Amino acid sequence: MQSKYLKYTMNIEKSKQLFEEAKKYIPGGVNSPVRAFKSVGGDPLFIKKGDGSKIYDVDGNEFIDYVGSWGPHIFGHNPSFIKNALLNAIENGTSFGAPTELEVKTAKLITELVPSVEMVRMVNSGTEATMSAVRAARGYTGKDKIIKFEGCYHGHADFFLIKAGSGALTLGIPTSPGVTKNNAADTLISDFNNIESVKNLIKANKNEIAAIIIEAIVGNMGVIKADDRFIKELRTLCDEEKIILIIDEVMTGFRVAKGGAQEVLGVKADLSTFGKIIGGGLPVGAFGGKKEIMEIIAPSGPVYQAGTLSGNPLAMSAGYAALSYIKDHPNLYNELEEKSAYLEEGIKENLKNLKRKFTLNRVGSMLTFFFTEEEVTDFNSAVKSDTRLYGKYFHEMLKREIYLPPAQFEAFFISTAHSKGDLDKTIESNFESLKAIF
Ligand SMILES: *Cc1c(COP(=O)(O)O)cnc(C)c1O
Repeated sequence: MQSKYLKYTMNIEKSKQLFEEAKKYIPGGVNSPVRAFKSVGGDPLFIKKGDGSKIYDVDGNEFIDYVGSWGPHIFGHNPSFIKNALLNAIENGTSFGAPTELEVKTAKLITELVPSVEMVRMVNSGTEATMSAVRAARGYTGKDKIIKFEGCYHGHADFFLIKAGSGALTLGIPTSPGVTKNNAADTLISDFNNIESVKNLIKANKNEIAAIIIEAIVGNMGVIKADDRFIKELRTLCDEEKIILIIDEVMTGFRVAKGGAQEVLGVKADLSTFGKIIGGGLPVGAFGGKKEIMEIIAPSGPVYQAGTLSGNPLAMSAGYAALSYIKDHPNLYNELEEKSAYLEEGIKENLKNLKRKFTLNRVGSMLTFFFTEEEVTDFNSAVKSDTRLYGKYFHEMLKREIYLPPAQFEAFFISTAHSKGDLDKTIESNFESLKAIF
């Protein structure tokens, strides 16, 4: 077959050398496991630069990027309005450990964009956000246990690393060593999209459950949307049982809609957690929700939560620029929907022409191409995917200068910077790559 895009030779020598060096000083050579390409095989690329829809590695190769730093880059890499905001902020210094005006403006803006959020506390990562939201829920309700769903990922706090998704799932360690039995005992696991499994746990743990935490649109076992009925019943159950519903919007917040998964599904959380887009590419997380619950947090209440660099002026300037842009450009989500639908249709057309029936799940600009022919609605159906085949596909795409997530159970992210040309190249490369792996 004539291949239009295949790079027969791609020099990645410098990346290889750096990876060897990195492994001497950093566990596994990376600061976050999924970057190491373990589940797809081969050596990771070291990235030097990002610009719009493209990333450039240290050997000078150029790729169309669908990772977008795992979600934050909804406008593509290094958009000028975020860069300028950062340059302006840096003139005044990097950190004060004292209140700044920008924190107030950012918090106010978040409450405007997400209707269920009345008050918000800034942190430095998604992990801190979910961890702190659970502490707030426990402090507020005076109860200890939480329910999470198999395959959902909520960062790496001990009590979340039980049947977790994302890198934990990819590396086959969904329940991590180092998590104590006591810690694990307070985390109960339900099946996603299965309300009976939640009801059973609540019945067996009557008046002991502080919170239910969920990715209402999951990204971390690949993209899976909660059924309308399931999420509504979950909301009702939480109200009846006085359980705090925490919707983890670290990935979906400002991604699937300006009001996140809650807007798409028409449901309101008691507490929401944010990260990724909220920081405009800098390390930011946040948790927020009903005023009555949030006021349990110190110094207005007794539940301790703090951070030396929380609300940091550089991080806030990038985050505020990103969120302001979102507020001022409501059409952004239509544009993302159009681009993402175009990509989805293209891949589906390829599958049809190749007489393959793999599953594509997409919500807005989050998409997962599962290498299974069955419908994917929960953990058990997601893990039917052929991860070995995904690895082969990943490398065929990489050889065509398309950078996909180096793991099956993750989302592709489409940004406003992806051009029609980018998408067409991706669709044609998808066809060639699928042909090459069978
Ligand atoms: C990425 C993610 C987290 C963790 O955020 P970090 O900033 O990596 O700590 C938590 N929950 C969800 C849904 C995520 O996608």
